[in-house]
Formats: sequence, C-alpha cells, structure tokens
Amino acid sequence: MYRRFITAGLLLLFTLTLTSKPRVVILATGGTIAGSAAGAAQASYQPGVLSIQQIISSVPDIEKLADLKGIQVCNISSQNMEERIWLELFKTIDNLFTHNLCDGVVITHGTDTMEETAYFLNLTLRHTKPVVITGAMRPATSLSADGPFNLYNAVALAASPEAHNRGVMVVMNDYILSADDVTKTNTVNPDAFSCPNYGPLGIMRDGQPRFYRESPFRHTASSEFDITGLNSLPVTEIIYAYAFSSDVAINALTAAGAAGIVVAGVGHGNYNRAVSKGIENASSKGVMVVRSSRIQTGGVDTAAEEYDSRWPVSYNKNPQKARILLMVALTKTRDAAEIQRIFKEY
Ligand code: ASP
Repeated sequence: MYRRFITAGLLLLFTLTLTSKPRVVILATGGTIAGSAAGAAQASYQPGVLSIQQIISSVPDIEKLADLKGIQVCNISSQNMEERIWLELFKTIDNLFTHNLCDGVVITHGTDTMEETAYFLNLTLRHTKPVVITGAMRPATSLSADGPFNLYNAVALAASPEAHNRGVMVVMNDYILSADDVTKTNTVNPDAFSCPNYGPLGIMRDGQPRFYRESPFRHTASSEFDITGLNSLPVTEIIYAYAFSSDVAINALTAAGAAGIVVAGVGHGNYNRAVSKGIENASSKGVMVVRSSRIQTGGVDTAAEEYDSRWPVSYNKNPQKARILLMVALTKTRDAAEIQRIFKEY
C-alpha cells in the first residue's frame, strides 16, 4: 500500500518544472502534526488525520521557501512505525537523491519515535543532501499549534545550502538537532526535544539556519552501511534493567531468535547477576549483546571500574539508538570487536 502511495507521488515529481527555488519533497507519515481535536484547547486528539496538502496549506509563505511537493507515505501515529515504512522511506529518499529529483527532503513524523527514524536514516542514506524530520506536540487544530512553524523551519533548513553534509536533522521548537543525539525529553510540552550529550547543532531564525557545531560521528555519505536491496533488518530488541530484575525477558528474547539485544542497564550500563546469566546464555546462542544505559547522559564506555569487558558498549547512544545501530551493524558483521568499533565511530 505504501509503495503505491510513494509511486504515485514519485510520478508527480516528473511534472517538476525548471525553477530557481530549491526543490523540496515533503514525505508525510502522520503524527500529531497531522492531528485533529474537537476543541482548540483540548488535550486529547486523534493523530494522523490531516493530509500533507492540508498541512502545507496551513503554513503561510511556505511556498516562497522552495518548490514543494508533498507525498503521503502513510498516516499513522509513530508508535505504530513499522520496519517496512523505514525501508520505504530509505528507498524513496535514496531514489530522489540518486536521480537528482530534489534538493532536500522533509519528513513529517509523530514525535514518539521520531528520533529512531532519524537515526536509522542517518546511518543508511549515503547522500549529502539534507534530510530534515519534524512534527508537532500540539495537534493542528490547537491554539498555538507548533506544527506550522516547525514545518516552515524544516522546509527552510532542507532548502538551505548550509544544511548539506550534516547528517539527518530533527527540527523542533526552533532547534536543529542531530539524529545521533536527539531524544524526546518531555511527553507533553512543545519544548520536547534535546541533544542531552552534545547540545543542538544550531537554531532556526528568520527562516535561516545558524549552525554552532557539527556532528562528531560518521553519518550519511560517510556511512559504511549499504542496505540497498534489503527487505528486512536483523531482529534487535531491548531489555531494561532495574532493582532485582529477572532473566525472564532476556531468555524469552533469546529463545524467540533475536539477533541482537541491547541492555538498558542501570548506571554505567550495569545489571544484576540474573541478567548477567541471561546475557551469557544469549551470547552462547550467538546473540550479540550491547551494554547501554537507562541514564540519559554520560553513556557507557570501557573505562569504568565495574566495566564488564565481555560485551560491546554503546558509548553515548541511548538504548533505542543503540538498538538501531546494532540492527544496522548486524547487516554487515557479527564480530564483537567490529561491533565495538562501529559503536565508537557512529
Ligand atoms: N503519539 C504521537 C506520535 O508519535 C505523538 C506525536 O506525534 O506527538 O505519532
């Protein structure tokens, strides 16, 4: 179904006429930015209702920024994101850039898993043209809806020559946030996203980016991962550590055939003896285990006193990002030392 939407949208692209404005394609996936509520001040609403054309037409002056084309990829809440939609997004953007059909891409997305889609594309799209993901914390029908300005900023960033070769970026609440560090830090407030370890890449102001730093990690055009032609990704899961956690979850995932498991450890990626036994069992069955942390900053490195050197560590990648890096890395290698190198570089 998604392929049908995308193919129809791609056909539209061939109607592109010569223009002096940058060509930006908006791939819409749903979320609160496409959400609608019965009242303007009401907290409950239905995400993924409005079409991309309705969203674009709600943003004054957006057409002045770029020659815009909207493609409705799907219209879902992002907690329902699927592997096949990630692969469709990858293939569509790869196709658009490879055939020079546009100068930048914006993805409208629900905020719940926005950081995950951003990091997946950051690792797999081997292009320098900008990909910018945005969404909203308030539905389109809300008083002071944040979606229209977020979309305006995202299109302005995707159209900017300064945005090239910076990796996939998230734009929310005027911040430009790098896919490798961005995470959702508030469940309800419009100021919901930050890069807790490294800070934002920059800000949007007057429809222009002001960049303050670059990502220190490998991404997009410098990525070694080639997922072209893949129709599925290795099954990679997360377990969460806590006081007197059991080994039930990790043993179940191992028995279910997971290829990789990330442990969201306590503190510096620690876990108790039960989980440790579960990890040993997983590893003996060929499951690649990576130690991450449920703590938002500081990461897990190889220098701590309690370091368990048997398993690779995730450095500053939080568990949900570590899962994606492990998933993508497992398409290339099952060697623990190689996995550790990858976690250092991406
Ligand atoms: N649950 C919604 C989603 O992720 C929340 C949002 O978009 O803000 O699609």
